[in-house]
Amino acid sequence: MKHHDVIIIGAGAAGLMCAVTAGYRGRDVLVLDNAKQAGRKILISGGGRCNFTNQKVEPHQFICGNPHFVKSALARYRSSDFIELVERHGIEYHERDHGQLFCNDSAKDIVTMLMTECEWAGVKIKLRTEILSVNKTNNGFLLTTSNGELSCQSLVVATGGLSMPKLGATPYGYKLAEQFGLTVLPTSAGLVPFTWHADQKVRFEALSGIAVPATITAQDGTQFSEALLFTHRGLSGPAVLQISNYWQAGEAISINLLPGENALEKIELALKNHPKQSLRNTLSHWLPKRLVEALFEETQLDKALNQLGHGEREQLAASLNNWSIIMNGTEGYRTAEVTLGGVDTNELSSKTMEAKNVSGLYFIGEVMDVSGWLGGFNFQWAWSSGVAAGLAV
Ligand code: FAD
Repeated sequence: MKHHDVIIIGAGAAGLMCAVTAGYRGRDVLVLDNAKQAGRKILISGGGRCNFTNQKVEPHQFICGNPHFVKSALARYRSSDFIELVERHGIEYHERDHGQLFCNDSAKDIVTMLMTECEWAGVKIKLRTEILSVNKTNNGFLLTTSNGELSCQSLVVATGGLSMPKLGATPYGYKLAEQFGLTVLPTSAGLVPFTWHADQKVRFEALSGIAVPATITAQDGTQFSEALLFTHRGLSGPAVLQISNYWQAGEAISINLLPGENALEKIELALKNHPKQSLRNTLSHWLPKRLVEALFEETQLDKALNQLGHGEREQLAASLNNWSIIMNGTEGYRTAEVTLGGVDTNELSSKTMEAKNVSGLYFIGEVMDVSGWLGGFNFQWAWSSGVAAGLAV
């Protein structure tokens, strides 16, 4: 039976980063993956250009049962460290809104970089390998795989979350955590579009393709100001994906369609300057006409501004600044970018990612109860947690 210092299950972002770090420390590292290709999620990320990190990464941009947990790893391996790695490999990149960094050419560059680093660090990678069982031994772990038995001193679980099952996502990491007595917090789809109820679909489906700037507020007060996109199925766009991380089933979200503006003041000013202008024409200067027509009744839109009572104007303003809507649900793991919940961080060391009660067992990346905002934060967590474990195994 072949023995390795370190076996990492999962050749994704976190697993490869951990492997490189441990390999450069002289550890004998084997990475196992059931897929036929390493880093598949990286390849499709960021629309094929991989938003690999963000210029400004702060702990509050991560959702975790224990908000302090991410601090140590993020401080130890910063986004500037990953940017330096990318630059060393001559990968050209650019910055988009909110400090998001993307490859100029292709996400493939990031996978090639990680594979090159693995080669330089002497890491072995074995793909198309199913893990059939894992057992603790006196000095490590015994793995039975579809390619035979293996043993290791340290075992790192980097199997990712449940999003995009088509790409081979499995709940295996959660099962392994439970097998070793760790708590797995309930999981749900994150960074995911919302879907309409049947009646909403009838009313808003025709708006598909319209994008407007908006501020969306979740019931817990969390707020994002970015683009809102109407789709055939419901609502999407960066603002919606961001708020989905803070949304619970059945809760209303509040959408401000005129972010940074006081709708009542705008209406009162329009009334003063153009009292005979129809509401339809007034609102169509501020929002796409189709959206205006879907939001308000025909009879109301046909009224001149001076035909609207004060109460009616207040109500209109509220609908524009605080459109409260209860969505049916989300598109689920099929299109989600991340999985919320996962291995409870209270059971792990924030410095090394090692299970507090199972020496030699580590969890890194998305399998843990850590999810980032949209904008490169999820990869940064994969890099930072991967390095933290790679330095400890
Ligand atoms: P993964 O990268 O998912 O890797 C897990 C690995 O484990 C996979 O290779 C998988 O095959 C393997 N595995 C799973 N189960 C088993 C098993 N039973 N046996 C063996 N191997 C197994 N984040 C960003 O920061 N920026 C982006 O631009 C971005 N874009 C995204 C776009 C899409 C469409 C999606 C779905 C996600 C995106 N994300 C993005 C999120 C990001 O991809 C993940 O957070 C990140 O890949 C998590 O890294 P990980 O290593 O923990 O898991």
